[in-house]
Formats: sequence, structure tokens, C-alpha cells
Amino acid sequence: MIDQRLQTLLLKNKQKFMIPASLVATVNQSNSLDHAFLVLTKDRYAKIIVIDNKNHYCGQISLAMITDQLLETKRINVERLNELKVRDVMQTDAPVIQDPTDIEENLHLLIDQSFLPVVDDHNYFCGIVTRREVLKAVNYTMHTFGK
Ligand code: AMP
Repeated sequence: MIDQRLQTLLLKNKQKFMIPASLVATVNQSNSLDHAFLVLTKDRYAKIIVIDNKNHYCGQISLAMITDQLLETKRINVERLNELKVRDVMQTDAPVIQDPTDIEENLHLLIDQSFLPVVDDHNYFCGIVTRREVLKAVNYTMHTFGK
């Protein structure tokens, strides 16, 4: 349980916690792998969100997940970039959250994840909470507590 005074400071800029879906780079689950490869490389994100045509959250995909699919015993088979779809490769078991201001849950999950997808009751993708934004709140709290 986080001390109430710390919680208040941590949540002071809570409106900044979630990057809204409109500002988050995503790929569609039906996109080919080469499209995801391009987006990940150009946007320089380690991992991005996968959604469906109705903006439901489906999973996450990274460059490592893609290259793993291309590896054969003695070569890299780039033709598979066109053969496979994002849904064939994406990770579906990463944790998702519903309340971006639940700081206790965020801190716990962000130990192992660099970002957390936020979904609503219908699994509609709302945005992400990133380690960076939460660390900013922690940094602010550490420097303000007791003043
Ligand atoms: P950060 O804590 O800002 O370094 O972000 C952690 C991770 O969240 C990044 O490596 C990306 O995988 C993801 N991320 C952050 N911002 C965005 C964004 N605008 N669009 C897509 N993914 C993002």
C-alpha cells in the first residue's frame, strides 16, 4: 500500500500518465510482417501495439519477434516478411490495464514492461502508460516530498 501523501504527489500530473491512442504508433493485426518491420524500424520503438479494424487491442509486436520468424538454420528468409501476418507473430499475453491512474498496479507491472496498454470494458484501445511518464511522476515526488 502506498502512503496517501506519496500517492497524492504521484498523481499530481495524472492527466499526463496516458499517451492517448491517437498519438500511439500501431499496426493492424491483418498487416503483413513487412509493414510492421517498416513501422518498428522507422519509428524506432522497441515494441508497438497491434489493433484490429475496430480499434480493439490485440497484442504487441517487436523487431525481435519478427526476426525470430525469419531465421532458418543457415540464413535469414526475408520472403517470410510477405507470407506472414502480424497476427501470426504478435505477443498476446502481455499485461493490459484499465485504470491509467492506478499507480500501485502501474509501478508493479512497469518493472517488467516498458509500457502498458490501456483498454476499456470492451477491449477498445485507449492509449499507453509508459515507464518514462511514471518515472517522471516518481522523480517529481522524490524531490517534492517533505517540502
Ligand atoms: P518510454 O518509456 O517513453 O521509453 O517508452 C517505452 C516504450 O513505449 C517504447 O519503447 C515504445 O515501445 C512504447 N512507446 C512509447 N511512446 C510510444 C508511441 N507514441 N507510440 C508507440 N509506442 C510508444
